[in-house]
Amino acid sequence: MDRGRVFSVEKDSDKNMEDLKKCIASTMKSEKHWGETIPISWTKLDSILKTLQESYNIYLFSNLMRDIQNANNVGIHDEEELRTALTFFHETGVILFRSAKEDIIILNIQWFVDAFKCIIVDETHIDKKDESNFVEFEELNDFGILSSKLLTKLWSTGNFLEHKKILIYHMKQLDMLAELSGEMWYVPCMNKQKYSCGILENCNVSSTLCFLFEFLPFVLYHRLVVSCINNLEMKPWKSTERMSIFHTVTILCCQDVTHRVLIAICVNKEHTHRTYPYSIEIQINVTKPREIDNRMTLKLKVRISQILVKLTRVFPFYEKQNPFPVGYRCKIKPFSGNSDDHIIKEDDISALELDCAKCMPVHVVDVKSILYFWQDGADSEKSTMKKKNREILTGCWRTKKKSTMKKNI
Ligand SMILES: [Zn+2]
Repeated sequence: MDRGRVFSVEKDSDKNMEDLKKCIASTMKSEKHWGETIPISWTKLDSILKTLQESYNIYLFSNLMRDIQNANNVGIHDEEELRTALTFFHETGVILFRSAKEDIIILNIQWFVDAFKCIIVDETHIDKKDESNFVEFEELNDFGILSSKLLTKLWSTGNFLEHKKILIYHMKQLDMLAELSGEMWYVPCMNKQKYSCGILENCNVSSTLCFLFEFLPFVLYHRLVVSCINNLEMKPWKSTERMSIFHTVTILCCQDVTHRVLIAICVNKEHTHRTYPYSIEIQINVTKPREIDNRMTLKLKVRISQILVKLTRVFPFYEKQNPFPVGYRCKIKPFSGNSDDHIIKEDDISALELDCAKCMPVHVVDVKSILYFWQDGADSEKSTMKKKNREILTGCWRTKKKSTMKKNI
């Protein structure tokens, strides 16, 4: 991903090892908590946690508080202090702990990862698959839909099931899965469905807004979809009784029920997209003859950008690239996922008249209509222009800026 951090090494050789060590050290030092001074009591707590980790996967906060009080010399005196320290260990990846709500600490991260592996790794499924759960397995394997019945089966070994609630809670918090109902979850990384734009045949669509990236781990797309379901109260759109969730495209119903948002991830390999080959794209659609309300598209743009900023924050690479460059597909048509249209960067749009230099053959880009959905000013500009045109027609418009007027018309 970053060629400056790629090192070839050889067996029984120290070739590049020195550079590799330096790179690891500098990566560690760039971590948020590196070099921070922490109270000595926290290092004592760290060793208590390490001892507990040998015997427990999960531990109650109240029991830990009791242990510390009994130990007498730790130096942590009240619950608030303990919660602050545990939050630090959560942020540095030692434990899983959400201080605000839960009384439970996940001490063994590997155990938590193993619980998720039971859901996503195919090989572990084979011995548990039988006639009674064949349909549920297919649903998970093909569509990423996990039923409670199947989860019970997948977690029947190990002691995951007794901690189901807390495991699911943290998986949701980490955007690993989305809750569709109390008995059903969506695990996007299992979804293998292929998208076809025929699904939008009877829909009015907005232009397509693209967030551009130099590199983009696929998991970010999954986490974005999950976060929209968990936090923006969106639900997968059902078409022909199936949920419209595909491998690289997801269509979610917004809270108002009539608007839907299509979220896609694209790898644009053409030379025209060399600088930013990856994009997360969003397009709004409604069933005909409904019209798209651009207040809705503007709101969604803000909310989805906020989620993307939050999700990419964990990668230091993005710090210098925030906010991400934005662009638009050059034609307004149902999202196809093919390369028969191109992305124009917002920075490259300087006039309302623009020819697309990327498509073959060349075509005129309807800049005004494209921006209408995603730029607040574009809307008011449009309405101002409409008003001005009306005034011109009634012959009562007086201004010194006649040349500007002509240009606008
Ligand atoms: Zn074009």
